[in-house]
Amino acid sequence: MSQRGLLIVLSGPSGVGKGTVRKALFESEETSYEYSISMTTRQMRKGEIEGIDYFFRSKEEFQALIEQDKMLEYAEYVGNYYGTPLDYVNQTLDEGKDVFLEIEVQGAMKVKEKMPDGVFIFLTPPDFSALKSRIIGRGTDDMDVIKERLAMARTEIDMMRHYDYAVVNDEVPLAVERIKKIIESEHYRVQNVIDCYEEMLKEM
Ligand code: 5GP
Repeated sequence: MSQRGLLIVLSGPSGVGKGTVRKALFESEETSYEYSISMTTRQMRKGEIEGIDYFFRSKEEFQALIEQDKMLEYAEYVGNYYGTPLDYVNQTLDEGKDVFLEIEVQGAMKVKEKMPDGVFIFLTPPDFSALKSRIIGRGTDDMDVIKERLAMARTEIDMMRHYDYAVVNDEVPLAVERIKKIIESEHYRVQNVIDCYEEMLKEM
């Protein structure tokens, strides 16, 4: 019997570098996880591509999908909706492949309620000043948005206690290696492999 894939959730405070770490992880060799492309109602930024960075949708379209129960989770973040389409996640896990989500903390907590067997990884800043300069340095948002993101980051860091792992993002390649090790170890968890041995047990 083939084993269902693992659901891996990477989350953490605003500006900690979740997107950068996730991209580096998927650009590195030997990754076998499937990235779940999120849906958002925010404006497309320069260089972003529909269906690669996000599925960009109107608020009306997004709300219709919520009503049809088509989202695993969603959150309203700085005035826009962000969410994870449910069908892709379930189908991919059923195929025995790992699914990787990179989402903010409210959404991660909703996923934890629905899929507590997931692997929840919290990306942390090395210190607060590093986080602050990353939020300001991003240069894509105006001052009000920056202030809102900073205030939110304080509350978000407090959510770390609900996660399985904390990974410091001091340097992106190091954070990527730490995450890979976590995922590899999770595959050796008895609860994640026991089904594969059921057949063998029956024959013994
Ligand atoms: P950005 O606008 O910078 O691309 O993303 C803003 C925040 O939304 C980031 O913290 C990112 O991790 C989060 N995010 C991206 N996709 C999703 C999603 O599907 N669900 C939730 N809850 N957050 C998401």
